[in-house]
Amino acid sequence: MKAMKGHDQPRSSSSCAACKFLKRRCIPNCIFAPYFRSDEPKKFAKVHKVFGASNVSKILIEVPEEQREDTVNSLAYEAEARLRDPVYGCIGAIALLQRKMVELQHDLAIARARLACYTSANSTARSDQLCLPPFPELSTCTYWSDIFSQSSSELFSRH
Ligand SMILES: [Zn+2]
Repeated sequence: MKAMKGHDQPRSSSSCAACKFLKRRCIPNCIFAPYFRSDEPKKFAKVHKVFGASNVSKILIEVPEEQREDTVNSLAYEAEARLRDPVYGCIGAIALLQRKMVELQHDLAIARARLACYTSANSTARSDQLCLPPFPELSTCTYWSDIFSQSSSELFSRH
């Protein structure tokens, strides 16, 4: 029985997550090593699944060194989004946020209109010398509040 096992094996803990995943030796100037640490194996697995290890290394070689970390973060984010939403990926997330933004801008416009409506209704009530018909404004307020509660309930029901 030989007791050499474990002695001259390359230390797996020194390999980066990419080389560990690809089951190859991590060389000292490995392009992946600074960005895929051995303690984050999932990060490389996801990026590899979506973009492929050789494409990732090609991208990293083309990018200036000071921008590589941002590049890897972007690739990791895009890979994560693509795995979550295989059809739309990041575009799906962007579209969802844009739709939410439009809804919130709509609600904000309604809230502002409602506020303006209350403010003008208050000032009308205080000016006793002017006899303005209060009803059109009041009905406008009701109209806006209906829209407001409707759009809010739509927003909540969607989640
Ligand atoms: Zn490596």
